[in-house]
Amino acid sequence: MQKSFSVGSKTFLLDQAKAEEAFAAKRVINGRETMTFNLLPLKYQWAYDLYRKMKANHWEPEDIPMGKDIEQWRDQKHVSDMERWIIRMGIGYFSAAEGIVGDNIQHVVRELVTAPELKLVLGRHAHEENIHADSLLYMISSLGINPHECEAMFEDVQTIVRKNEFVTRISRDLRRDLDLTKSENKRLLAKNIFVFGQCMEGTQFYGLFGMVLSLYRQNKFPGIGQMFRYTLRDESNHIEVFRNLFMDLVEENREIWTVEFKEELRATMAEAVQLEKEFIRDCLPVNAVGLAVDEFLLYIDYIADRRLEGVGLAPLSPGVKNPLPWLAEMMDIKKEQNFFEGRVTEYQKASALEVAHDDEL
Ligand code: FE
Ligand code: MN
Repeated sequence: MQKSFSVGSKTFLLDQAKAEEAFAAKRVINGRETMTFNLLPLKYQWAYDLYRKMKANHWEPEDIPMGKDIEQWRDQKHVSDMERWIIRMGIGYFSAAEGIVGDNIQHVVRELVTAPELKLVLGRHAHEENIHADSLLYMISSLGINPHECEAMFEDVQTIVRKNEFVTRISRDLRRDLDLTKSENKRLLAKNIFVFGQCMEGTQFYGLFGMVLSLYRQNKFPGIGQMFRYTLRDESNHIEVFRNLFMDLVEENREIWTVEFKEELRATMAEAVQLEKEFIRDCLPVNAVGLAVDEFLLYIDYIADRRLEGVGLAPLSPGVKNPLPWLAEMMDIKKEQNFFEGRVTEYQKASALEVAHDDEL
């Protein structure tokens, strides 16, 4: 079917069938070449919906006052060195981690996916990692921490080094010309998306999220706590972007979803959990400041199983209950939306206002 437009002496013919063919060729991978970046018509509606949701949550570090944090950082009487150490570990780990996530999106995942609306949401995801990295820089400069010390944290603290190696390994493997018609390479990409979304952002970020938010709950470092809350809200969207991407990739390439591959992913999550637990023991070498290390360790088991179930995999520690119910109020995937209701930043435009549906998270 062709539609013609006559304008002045010229006639333009538009071919509906050809356009429909282009739409039918949209795929997560091995789809139509998309240099033209034509978003419409949308095939992956979730990607566009998440893009809009992420955009509506925009924030900038400089909006958050750091006066109280600076005061507490210097206060030897009311703030303990243990509390300062948790903040140092938070800054040391996330300074490197945010950049690693953003870099993997730009140089691996966004390079390999073919549908434009997937590239759109991944571009926003990468930009949010830049905002997070910048927020760490803002914390470091506000508190007057020597920037060399921050670099040294991720060079010299072995549990941080090991967490970083765990993810950069799978990122490095994909930085070459990859024939994505081969099942083994499709699995490499699926594993990368699983590792970054569910193991790293979904699980290995949550030990520190919990510790920093528990300080925040005790009115310690309110500016840093606020930035971690905004970051956590962003991360819950990132986990969802990568969860959807993973599910659609598997759906379109069913042959990769073998028993062996599922077990490989569960074993990878088990490794992520192990690394996170060692890291938590470095963050909190003793039970202090109202924080019990065992509860945080158990929390990681709990959250890792939620991530596995989210992508249709069996849990590693079935039956584990959330040991930190107050954290659930602040963090639980279903409640994050309500938690932030009415606290949106000034960047949110009226046109971007959306009502959260239960099935969205
Ligand atoms: Fe981030
Ligand atoms: Mn993220």
